[in-house]
Amino acid sequence: MSTSPEPPAAASADRPVHGSPCPRCVSPLTDDPRFLLWCPACDWNLVPGGDAAPEPTRRERAAIARTDRLYEEQATGGDSPTARRDWLLASAAAGLIHLVTVGIFALALWLLIAGTVVQRCVGAVVLVIAVTLRPRLGRLPKDAGVLDRAGAPALYGLADRVAAEVGARPVDVIQVTDEFNASYGLVGVRRRSVLRLGLPLWEVLDDRERTALLGHEFGHRVNGDRRRSFWLYSAVSALRAWYGMARPGHDGLVVGRDEVSMLVRLGAAFGRLVLRGVAWVLYQGLVLFDRLTSRAGQQAEYHSDVLAARVAGGKAARGTLAALLLFNSVDTAIHQIRAEERGRPRIFRARSRRTEDAPAPPAPDLLWERVREHLASVPAIERERLLRLSARDRSAVDGSHPPTHLRIALAARGGDGDGAVTAAESASIATELAPHRARIAAGLLAG
Ligand SMILES: [Zn+2]
Ligand SMILES: [Zn+2]
Repeated sequence: MSTSPEPPAAASADRPVHGSPCPRCVSPLTDDPRFLLWCPACDWNLVPGGDAAPEPTRRERAAIARTDRLYEEQATGGDSPTARRDWLLASAAAGLIHLVTVGIFALALWLLIAGTVVQRCVGAVVLVIAVTLRPRLGRLPKDAGVLDRAGAPALYGLADRVAAEVGARPVDVIQVTDEFNASYGLVGVRRRSVLRLGLPLWEVLDDRERTALLGHEFGHRVNGDRRRSFWLYSAVSALRAWYGMARPGHDGLVVGRDEVSMLVRLGAAFGRLVLRGVAWVLYQGLVLFDRLTSRAGQQAEYHSDVLAARVAGGKAARGTLAALLLFNSVDTAIHQIRAEERGRPRIFRARSRRTEDAPAPPAPDLLWERVREHLASVPAIERERLLRLSARDRSAVDGSHPPTHLRIALAARGGDGDGAVTAAESASIATELAPHRARIAAGLLAG
């Protein structure tokens, strides 16, 4: 049915489509309708609706300057003097926290040993509080996905080789997870090492990129990442425990209408107010630690990237980092496949979960093949958009990781490592991981 001849032209001019001229600079817009429409010439619609975003605040501009300065320091092989100063301050603050912990324990013991009967009772209560507030150092994982050396000799063999190349001790435990990520940490009083490999990430990397990933993670053992030092880590974990205790809980603990109840209610309200104040102070302490250690942490990430490039070559290190930018594409792929397989779309859940009871997919490796196909189909211009988005992250005030585009730029500067894995080794690792591939695929498809 025909309508008035004038309005349609104006309406379509207001709505650019893929391949049409940019409404801001008239350069051609991107032309792949599967991906966001944006202008590579002027960044129009780089973030949907982001054009109206306000100019960075003074604080954000300062954060951008700090981020760029840290990158320059790393690129020129320097050490950040500010990171060193911050670390000293953080260590001193950690010392205070340890003093309080030791003080509470000492008070409890003194009351228990030298006190009267009443004081001993108080001592017992203080001891319970001290134990509750002790630093938590983590423990070795025991759940699904933990691989032992006998069951995964090829993977441990590769891991040990890469660890030796970066100068780290062999890892104690490797665990595969369903996250699009990888991490390395030390747990318990004996500081045993745990490498967590997210299978969705592992599966989209090639052999050299996997070596680079291992190089980066083991780099955390030798990169001077002081956030992971026993002194600092245990202090922050104690502070978290304190905050967990003081954090405001639910209200309405006391109900009643008589005078006694009124007094109790007033007392409880006063107690809650005091606790809220304590929680606020503790929270500020956690924020302060984050601020003081974020620069040293970012420096350590750069250092790990350089080590990854040294082990597996700059190209592989760059490839691993570029893959991390594709988190949403992996999410989309899994979402689509799940919708096709089960007819009920859900959002990809990155958190680990038990999946033993999940139904098996039609073919165990179908998911991984489809995800790889999907990522291979992501055009260069979409990857470029993700890189530019990461550049905008420079304004993040206290990121634990530097923006990915800067990490890629640094990894591109160096590293002539080979990172080669033989076909037989790669096949053995794939066989060792096969049950976990099937289990995690089933879990992700089940949603
Ligand atoms: Zn434009
Ligand atoms: Zn890292």
